[in-house]
Amino acid sequence: MTKFSRPTGTLDILPEEQPYWDYIIDYMTKVARGYGFQPISLPIFEDTQLFSRGVGEVTDIVEKEMYSFLDKGDNSITLRPEFTAGIVRAYIENGMQVEPKPVKLYSIGPAFRYERPQAGRFRQFHQFNAELIGSPSPLADLETMLMAWDIYNGLGFKDLAFQLNSTGCPKCRPGYVNVLVEYYREHIDEVCDNCKRRLAQNPLRVLDCKSDQCQPVIAAAPKIQEHLCAECATHFADLRGFLDDLGRPYTINHRLVRGLDYYTKTVFEVWAEGIGAQSAVCGGGRYDGLIELLGGAHTPAVGFATGLERVVMLLKAQEVAVPPIPAPPVFVVFLGKQMRSPAMQLLVQIRAADINGHIAMSGSLKSQLRQADKRGARFALILGEDEALRGEVILRDLKDGAQVSISQAALVDELSRRLS
Ligand code: ATP
Ligand code: MG
Repeated sequence: MTKFSRPTGTLDILPEEQPYWDYIIDYMTKVARGYGFQPISLPIFEDTQLFSRGVGEVTDIVEKEMYSFLDKGDNSITLRPEFTAGIVRAYIENGMQVEPKPVKLYSIGPAFRYERPQAGRFRQFHQFNAELIGSPSPLADLETMLMAWDIYNGLGFKDLAFQLNSTGCPKCRPGYVNVLVEYYREHIDEVCDNCKRRLAQNPLRVLDCKSDQCQPVIAAAPKIQEHLCAECATHFADLRGFLDDLGRPYTINHRLVRGLDYYTKTVFEVWAEGIGAQSAVCGGGRYDGLIELLGGAHTPAVGFATGLERVVMLLKAQEVAVPPIPAPPVFVVFLGKQMRSPAMQLLVQIRAADINGHIAMSGSLKSQLRQADKRGARFALILGEDEALRGEVILRDLKDGAQVSISQAALVDELSRRLS
């Protein structure tokens, strides 16, 4: 028989891993709602063109990483590689521009990129994504960054570094790109082949090159900060001022350009130690042109996404204690086959009173009690024929082994009292 295994670059998130996921998803949801973000859930697949146009033709995602296929109706479909394009599509399609601005939305779910799998880099991964749509103010950029901050702080992370840059706008970026290309032409023999290609197709990305050979050229490259138009420079200065006033540390990183075409003005990432080469846990920025590009009215917006697998890696690397998923406190034990149904009735009765419990499917008294222990139950309810005849049940405290026979009618009250 063929043995099946999970596709390359995917993860089975087994029950023992789930406390990490519960913990981060609960916390992120709590922070997002506290900030006034509303949940939105969208299809996992969209029209391929939404991404090629929205993310940008000359990006790693669109050139190499998309899971695209023709469906049975010959439509080109792509599994979402990121959330923003889909959210913008939904914003436009559902007429959300009439809602009070900014519209604040968050989502949690899987995303798909055909990448070379490594630690922290998967082909199916999960993101928490937040978008704040409809405000050009640097306060909006600040708000998204603060939310990222609060999430990581509240989860218990230490030593995170906020990296910040401005990538300008369609008014000032082309001027900078010309200067950058000019500079690279003078150094063309010193850079890698990839950068030679990038220079022709998506010049900003040369700043992002990881090859050793290119590092001295990048270090001495002209900086976009010196080429921002007045509007972008003021926006960036305001944002930095707000962060300074709040005492939030950040590093200006001239090399930070981000891999998606849609960013304007602010871009930021959060970096962390302890997750190997994949040091970014979060990436985001402003995308003032995207909504118009996808057919809506000109609408400024800003957002970010954080990779949940990387957040889980970080929890482990930083040894953050995560609360276990609570086990049902009660375990029902029956003595003999004829007690199966009465035992189940007892369990149904306590469940109706919101007291959670398990039942053994079979086994001797000893083995059922062992199961109760293994499953972390606090109390066992033991039902034998004698107890059943008297309308009673044995309540055994599994911590100290003390047990009493109590009336079944008083069971819910007694359990509630002991569990509170
Ligand atoms: P990287 O530089 O690591 O490739 P990115 O810039 O491509 O990241 P974004 O598009 O900004 O990533 O996505 C936001 C976040 O999603 C990242 O900071 C990271 O935590 C996570 N992420 C992105 N790609 C993957 C992946 N293939 N596997 C796991 N997490 C990912
Ligand atoms: Mg990437």
